[in-house]
Amino acid sequence: MQDVTDKIRRFTDEVASLAIRAGRSVESVRVMAVTKFHGPWAIEAAYAAGIRVFGESRVQEAIEKRDFFASDVELHLIGNLQRNKAKKAAEIFSSVDSIDRLSVISVLDRYAASLAKRIEIMFEMNVSGEESKHGFSSYDELCEAVELAAGCTSVVPVGLMTMAPYTDDESVIRKTFSGLREIFYRCKRDFPAFDWREISMGMSNDYRIAIEEGSTLLRIGSLFFGDRG
Ligand SMILES: *Cc1c(COP(=O)(O)O)cnc(C)c1O
Repeated sequence: MQDVTDKIRRFTDEVASLAIRAGRSVESVRVMAVTKFHGPWAIEAAYAAGIRVFGESRVQEAIEKRDFFASDVELHLIGNLQRNKAKKAAEIFSSVDSIDRLSVISVLDRYAASLAKRIEIMFEMNVSGEESKHGFSSYDELCEAVELAAGCTSVVPVGLMTMAPYTDDESVIRKTFSGLREIFYRCKRDFPAFDWREISMGMSNDYRIAIEEGSTLLRIGSLFFGDRG
């Protein structure tokens, strides 16, 4: 476990120097540890390395691991949310980063309101247009979702999330990330009532490009914890 903690510490140091090299501040890029499919050891190792943002992709798994997340961590849902899991999701997550359909927004809002809780949300964008990917595929669809959220009381939009295609072609990855950044600035301009601050992009194999393209939140799993099997 100490090895993993050391690896994560080295990683956060690297992120800091990459941020500076990209002309950004160290605090402007945060690191989320994606602990899905891994046991409590992964949570403990990342926490010991100073990580305070965690991502899980399945509601049920997060419930099972809930007690291992300290009270000072942000727990984010990064996987697709089904409506029938929205109640549980509202209970345990501080942020749902994978809003990809209109229908889930109002359901989540209703449960958050009943818990007197404020839940941050991010809209997942399918920037690359791959059929296998979740997310809104046009700006118009995104606008509809933001307008729906504007009428909600307990879910609060804070940003956008995307996944780049799985490829060695850097230019394809870069285009996806710069595309998300452009959509982000459009949102900021068109919906100034919200505090837009998160551009969640960059995973184990493409985080360097993501930092250069303006990511505020890297989502790292396998690089820290190894294969998920
Ligand atoms: C699993 C997952 C990650 C982490 O991916 P790695 O390549 O293991 O770093 C990041 N984001 C999402 C949405 C995921 O589902």
